[in-house]
Amino acid sequence: MAERVLVIGSGGREHALAWKLAQSPHVQQVLVAPGNAGTANSGKISNSAVSVNNHSILAQYCKDHNVGLVVVGPEVPLAAGIVDDLTAAGVTCFGPSAKAAQLEASKSFSKSFMDRHNIPTARWSSFTDPQDACKYIQDAEFPALVVKASGLAAGKGVVVARDKDEARKAVLDIMKDKAFGSAGETVVVEEQLEGEEVSCLCFSDGITVSPMPPAQDHKRLLDGDQGPNTGGMGAYCPTPQVSEEVLQEIKRSVLQKTVDGMREEGTPYVGVLYAGVMLTKQGPKVLEFNCRFGDPECQVLMPLLKSDLYEVLKNTLQADLSSSPVQWLENSAAVTVVMASGGYPASYKKGLEITGVSEMGIQVFHAGTALKEGGGVITSGGRVLTVTAVRPTLESALCSANEGVAVISFPDAVYRRDIGHHAITYLTRTRGLTYKD
Ligand code: AMP
Repeated sequence: MAERVLVIGSGGREHALAWKLAQSPHVQQVLVAPGNAGTANSGKISNSAVSVNNHSILAQYCKDHNVGLVVVGPEVPLAAGIVDDLTAAGVTCFGPSAKAAQLEASKSFSKSFMDRHNIPTARWSSFTDPQDACKYIQDAEFPALVVKASGLAAGKGVVVARDKDEARKAVLDIMKDKAFGSAGETVVVEEQLEGEEVSCLCFSDGITVSPMPPAQDHKRLLDGDQGPNTGGMGAYCPTPQVSEEVLQEIKRSVLQKTVDGMREEGTPYVGVLYAGVMLTKQGPKVLEFNCRFGDPECQVLMPLLKSDLYEVLKNTLQADLSSSPVQWLENSAAVTVVMASGGYPASYKKGLEITGVSEMGIQVFHAGTALKEGGGVITSGGRVLTVTAVRPTLESALCSANEGVAVISFPDAVYRRDIGHHAITYLTRTRGLTYKD
C-alpha cells in the first residue's frame, strides 16, 4: 500500500526531496512542514502546518495522519533529537540520532573523532578560553589559520583568516562578543588547507556506505568566488576533477572509516553523511562533516538519482544497502543556480513578486517563496529558488540552467553567472575544450 511521507524543512533541498519522493509508486502523498510555495500544492505534494519543534505533537500528528516515513532536511532538528524522539514514539524517521549528528553539531567532537580514527583532516586544537586560543595562534607553526565556532552556526561560524591578527580577532568575536551565541563557547583553531573543495555524500545504513556522485557548491555570493560566504549559490554534479580513484580513496579513508568508527563507538550512523573534502597535494582531507543533504547539492543529486528515493531511504533504515545498490543516471550532468534576494546574506526585502517560473521548461526548486493572497508567488527568504538543469554534458547543463535563470525575475535578484567554473577550467585544460557562456 502506498504511504504518506512527511519531509521536514522549507528550502530548495526539501523541495527536491519531496519532488523525488513524489515520483515513487510507494508514495501516495508527500507533506512538507512547513514547506514553501513550490511544495504548497503540486500533484502529490502539499504543505503541512504541524509544529516540528514539539516532537511529541509531531509524533501524534504522524500517527493521526498515517505518516509512514519522516525525512528530515536540516541539521538543527537532527541535533535536537528528532529521530530519537520519533523513533521512540514508533514513527519511522530517516536521519542520524542526536548523538551521531554530533559529527556536524560539534566541530570539537568531529575533530577528536577524526584523530581517534586516523581520518585525514587539518591539524587543529580546541579551546574554551580565548586567551589559550590566542596563545596557540601566536605559537602556531602554520601561518594561515581557520577559526571555527564549534557548535551549529547556520554555516556562518567559520573565519578563514588572512593572518594571525585576523585569527585572534575572530577568536574574540566568537568567544567574547558571542557572535554566534552559545555555538562559540568552544572554538576550533585549525591549519588552513589549500586545494579544491568538493562535497562527498553517501547513504549510510550504519555498516555499508553508498557514495553519491561528488558535487561542488559555490559558497561565495559573487562571481569569481568573491564576496561574503552564503548558504551556497549553486552546485553541479558530478565533478570531473574527482577521478574514480580519488572517489574510492575518499570512500575508503573518510566515509567508510567514519561509519565504522561511529559504530565501534556505540553511535551507529544511519542517514546521509556529507563530507566536505579539500583535495590537497597530500590527498583528500576533511573540512567538515554534515549530517544531512547539502543545500544546494541536493538539488543536483535528486535529479541524477535513478533509483526510487523512497526505496533507498527504506533500505538504508533496514540496514540493507549492501544488497540493494543505489543507481545514478549515467552520462548526465546536473547544474543548479540559486537566485537570491538583493542584500542576502545580510538583510533583504521580502514580499517581492516573482514572475516567469511557470514558463520554465526545466526544474525550479523553491526555497524562500510564499504564495501571494489572490494568486502568484512572492519572495520570503534570502535564497529564493534554484533552477536545475540535467543534460548529457556539464556544458549543456550550464547553458540550460543559465537560460532558465534569465526567464525568471523579481526585483534585485542576485545570482552567479559562473557556476561550474572550476570544472570548466579543468575540462578546458584536460580535454582542450573551449567554453562560451
Ligand atoms: P566548515 O563549516 O568547517 O566546512 O567551513 C566552512 C568553509 O570554510 C568551508 O567550506 C571552507 O571553504 C572553509 N574552510 C573550513 N576549514 C578550512 C580549512 N582548514 N582550510 C581552508 N578552508 C577552510
